[in-house]
Amino acid sequence: MAVKRSDGRAFDEVREMSAKVGVIPNADGSALFAFGNTIAIAAVYGPRQLHPQHMQNPLKGYLRVNYDLMSFSVYDRKRPGPSRRSSEISKVTEWALSPAIYLEQFPNSVIDVQIYILQADAGTRTAGINAASMALAHAGIPMKSLVCSVAIGKLDQDLIVDLTKEEEDFEEGEGATDFPVAVLANTNEFSLLQMDGKLPPERLNEVLELALKVTPKIFEVQKNALKACVGGKDE
Ligand code: UDP
Repeated sequence: MAVKRSDGRAFDEVREMSAKVGVIPNADGSALFAFGNTIAIAAVYGPRQLHPQHMQNPLKGYLRVNYDLMSFSVYDRKRPGPSRRSSEISKVTEWALSPAIYLEQFPNSVIDVQIYILQADAGTRTAGINAASMALAHAGIPMKSLVCSVAIGKLDQDLIVDLTKEEEDFEEGEGATDFPVAVLANTNEFSLLQMDGKLPPERLNEVLELALKVTPKIFEVQKNALKACVGGKDE
């Protein structure tokens, strides 16, 4: 590891994580998940009948995700309302979470997941997926697994985990590559692989191995928050 991380973390160390469920009492399920200064909240409503009716699928339910940054979550105020970026992240979050849910148990229905980023310092889609996965479990939605997500990064030649915004903007050597992944914790199946930047194909396995090294730590944090709630110890 030649690149030194500005916050002193080891290359395979995620930022300090915090997680809590039940943060939005009106929702059927809700959770907060933070990687350092990146804070995501998720609320789940449903399953409920999907409207308009022509969108209903008699074979399975539909997981509908809406992701957005709060205007105050970033230094330069984010214009409220949907954007190409929020549409893309909503869609990939649907794809990352859907394989973990027994959607065939909910024909003609929709499960709505709203994800808002309270504060952003890169890794918002990954924090959002972690929060949403916990919120779905908190809502009692039948799931094969929790979903754990983290961004792997390449700064010049070095692989790291959980990039900050400063690290995403790294420009020396080959610059920065951001590789967000999501993993079904029970089976280690990948449900999201994205890449912004460049990576030689022969290094792909290194990225996936690094991801599988850190996702169990995320899983522990998610499980502990869910257990604290179930045990009535939510604080
Ligand atoms: N960002 C910002 N304003 C925006 C969109 C993004 O300041 O309108 C910042 C924010 O810190 C975000 C980071 O850029 O976390 C990286 O965004 P990206 O699209 O790569 O997704 P993310 O890493 O958050 O999943």
